[in-house]
Amino acid sequence: MREREVVELLRKVTDTLPNTEERQGQNDMAMAVSNAVNTNRHLIVQAGTGTGKTLGYLVPLIASGKRIVVSTYTKALQDQLAAHDLPQLITILERELDRTVTWSVLKGRNNYLCRQRLDEMESPKQAKLDLDDTSAAVKAEVRKLIEWADETETGDQGDLTWSPSEKAWRLVSVGSDECPGAQRCPAADRCFSEQARASATLSDVVIVNTFIYGLHIAMNGELLPEHDVVVFDEAHQLEDVISNTVSTSIGSGRINGVITALRAIIREDSLTNGLQLLAHDFNACLVPYVGKRVDLPFPPAIGAALVDVRLKIDQAVQALRAIDSKDDKAKQKILRAQMLANRVIDAVDMCLTAGKSQVAFVSGTVERCSLEIA
Ligand code: SF4
Repeated sequence: MREREVVELLRKVTDTLPNTEERQGQNDMAMAVSNAVNTNRHLIVQAGTGTGKTLGYLVPLIASGKRIVVSTYTKALQDQLAAHDLPQLITILERELDRTVTWSVLKGRNNYLCRQRLDEMESPKQAKLDLDDTSAAVKAEVRKLIEWADETETGDQGDLTWSPSEKAWRLVSVGSDECPGAQRCPAADRCFSEQARASATLSDVVIVNTFIYGLHIAMNGELLPEHDVVVFDEAHQLEDVISNTVSTSIGSGRINGVITALRAIIREDSLTNGLQLLAHDFNACLVPYVGKRVDLPFPPAIGAALVDVRLKIDQAVQALRAIDSKDDKAKQKILRAQMLANRVIDAVDMCLTAGKSQVAFVSGTVERCSLEIA
């Protein structure tokens, strides 16, 4: 489509949408985007508030017929685009372009209800292990989320009309470092996260956040479907977000995640209590460095704490391997706990083998900090 036609299409869109008007800056941006796509060039646009950037890039890109990934800085921006801007725009463009335009939203696994975890909750024995240490309020939230699973089509936390506590949501979801993957999960054919990925592979426009795009890069391009164009909204944040996704991080939060997964399976208090103590000690030895760089090789206290954590988690992995359960639901829990524990071991190993070309620093707060390697 020529630049003049793009501006004309943009005018039709702004004439139709409520509270929009033709703006010169937006026209200039749309022409520049169209030109960049037609000539296979990168483009950086800096435009002030009120320019109408979203339409300025979406209209020419959708009109180009290319497969597009739009990467927003935050999940909130991702939800806003998906809930408001995009559906209205696509309705108009489908009419003007006389073709269908498909789109979808893709988030990290922990944003979706996990069908396998919900199935496990149906077993009174497994539910007791998961919910034993939780308050009545959290139990009530989990019950509401289980009911919602029968109504929702997406299982996406962003589609809830209320905000569950972090604790309740964690009980019905899994992170990517815990999920064993579709090949090894009996609930994969009903998995919300897998459905979102499948839908993304069929879409002309996929909305992700930059953290997901960073993971896509870290996974050598295996996470997202093939695409012709990527747009980074709020691109000035790109460097920070991408370096977060490709760096390694280990802190008491991740160790506590392993403890929670272990406690849902085994009641070997000496193991989990020992790990809890190490998580606390590890946090304590990072505290003097919060917000600062740490020299490599690590100061002896940090190096020793990392080795202690590794040995204890290795012990946990052995304990999980030794469980001989006939219960399929328990087996899945064991598998997820092993995944989680092994990822922490990988992170510790990456820290212990960090070289001079890498940078170590401590992020977070005094109460909960993490050692990061980039
Ligand atoms: S693949 Fe299974 S464990 Fe992973 S998110 Fe889906 S349902 Fe949950």
